[in-house]
Amino acid sequence: MRVLHITSEAVPFAKTGGLGDVGGALPVATAELGMTTAVVLPYYSKVRKHAASLMRVLGSVECPYAGGSRPFSLWQGFLSKSPRVPIWFVRNEGVFETSDDLYGTEPGSYGDGHTRFLYFAEAAIRVAKATGFRPDVFHLHDWQASLVAPLLRTRWKHDADLSKAATLLTIHNLAYQGDFSVDDLRAAGIPQELLREGRLLVNGRGNLLAGGIRMVDGLTTVSRTYAREILRAEFGNGLEGVIATREGLLDGIVNGLDVDAWNPQTDRKIAARYSAEAPEGKVACRSALLAAYGLKDRGGPVFGAVARLVAQKGLDLLSTSLPAVLRERPDVRVVVLGTGDRSVERALLALARTFPDNVAVDLRFDDGRAHVVEAGADFFLMPSRFEPCGLNQLISMRYGTPPIVRATGGLVDTVIDANAEHLGDGTATGILFRDATAAALEAAIRRAIDLHDRGLHVAMSLEGMRGDWSWTRSARDYASAYARARERRAGGSLHLADVLPTTSEEPTTPWLPPLVEIPDHHPRDVLWAVPRDPWTLYACWELGGDASRRRLAAIDPSRRDDIRYILRLIERATRTFHDIDVGGLAKEWMADVEPGRGYDVELLMRLPGESDRLLLAWAPPDQPPVPPSEAAIA
Ligand code: ADP
Repeated sequence: MRVLHITSEAVPFAKTGGLGDVGGALPVATAELGMTTAVVLPYYSKVRKHAASLMRVLGSVECPYAGGSRPFSLWQGFLSKSPRVPIWFVRNEGVFETSDDLYGTEPGSYGDGHTRFLYFAEAAIRVAKATGFRPDVFHLHDWQASLVAPLLRTRWKHDADLSKAATLLTIHNLAYQGDFSVDDLRAAGIPQELLREGRLLVNGRGNLLAGGIRMVDGLTTVSRTYAREILRAEFGNGLEGVIATREGLLDGIVNGLDVDAWNPQTDRKIAARYSAEAPEGKVACRSALLAAYGLKDRGGPVFGAVARLVAQKGLDLLSTSLPAVLRERPDVRVVVLGTGDRSVERALLALARTFPDNVAVDLRFDDGRAHVVEAGADFFLMPSRFEPCGLNQLISMRYGTPPIVRATGGLVDTVIDANAEHLGDGTATGILFRDATAAALEAAIRRAIDLHDRGLHVAMSLEGMRGDWSWTRSARDYASAYARARERRAGGSLHLADVLPTTSEEPTTPWLPPLVEIPDHHPRDVLWAVPRDPWTLYACWELGGDASRRRLAAIDPSRRDDIRYILRLIERATRTFHDIDVGGLAKEWMADVEPGRGYDVELLMRLPGESDRLLLAWAPPDQPPVPPSEAAIA
């Protein structure tokens, strides 16, 4: 199988967080399983320092940019010596090298990311063509790469090689979606046919991640718990409805760790080497950490943290949870390494000023120091408000530093809590706490101090070090996910671009019902349903017509929020039906169906205390599709 990774980060070339680790390691791990893999990355200014190991393989490839065109040159390096995994850098200095920052923006802002990452997505597809790599699967990482799927299904859909390739999108962090105005996307040169609700638009805004989610053949996120969490409003960041339509595709695969880069047995960045079998060196690492930050050892536990200092990571909670603990236990030490939001940085600095003997705060991004903290601490602090997978808890367990984590996302799937049962059977590897509050974190820190006082943290430390967090395990799961995505693609996976074709293009899949163009602003009531594959029926609807408007006007405004829509699947042979409550906002749904059976579909409106009202009905695919007229509906 040939897999082309499209990513905006890959170590050792470009990294701002966990995505960089994945981009550097997963392609190698899957290559070790026998797949042919390669990576496409932008040539950032940071990549220049690797120039000596790179070779220019293509001089000039034309590629659309902001309504015009800009050529890129292609540079090749290798991610690993054996197996040799090529990494291709798309280089246009005016696009990717205008700033030292990867994303060229203030933290939290996307700036002109739409223009750069549209260019990158187009370029990545052209790299697949120009190199003759012919991927079976495009593995897209996060919003920066997700435009590849919509582009493949529109601009490139007639390309004989590429239209057969499956796409798999991995959501590493749903908090970042690539959200832009429609005008920005239009100016960037995104094909007009994609600028619609149900394609790249979500409630009138462009959302590159949503566009990817809707059009890929496989969808994964980085832990099973996070895969479930993102279907809920609390974690879905507004995309829970979009993701729910693809729930059948969604898998959770926990990241592995680069066990060579993070290996306490061979690590030259730390004071002494150690392992579960010979753990003595950790003592020297602890002393070295305290010495590096000028903290005196008073025998109490040392807590370490390494993170981007953003709300997600929850380290702002320390300002409230630590003072009482430190007053009671002056022997406790805390070292925080991180950069991020000014407000979090300032709060942590204030804490260090109040407790100079106990707390050191290092506001840098420094990989060497990250190793020193991971190895030297007795416990690792990771009170994330949400955590898709998290690498730092894996690293800390591998370094014998039990993590203190909030019970969310990948943290739940990887850390075993030191409750009585797990302490008893020796499986405990860390401390989990539930609420994202300073009080809950404080209680967890106190549990850790108590375990340390009783010497129980040592067994946890050793158990964590014995765990297998290698990429090989994850790579096997990805191999299955690729296979499923390819099956979907080969089975004539239907994509939105095919469901709502433009009038100028005939639908390419002959067994589809001929569809009528739905204009950009659909001032009408219409329900469509099309088999996406034998197991899935895709339904979408618009309620913008006069009949709907009249109906809505007749409902008391205070009750409008209570409206829910029901998608009713009626099995044609038996007339038995199945109702799906799709909520009040959804405009599309991927419904699970039994293969080989025909279904009629209806959309009903439900208001508490009233009987359901039929709004729209869909004609089955073997009959000519007749858009239901408004008169018929009213
Ligand atoms: P995220 O990807 O959300 O930032 P993860 O825990 O998945 O969080 O991965 C974080 C990665 O970034 C780890 O490899 C960690 O060591 C590294 N990292 C984060 N902040 C720093 C820092 N200030 N200095 C060095 N490495 C850091």
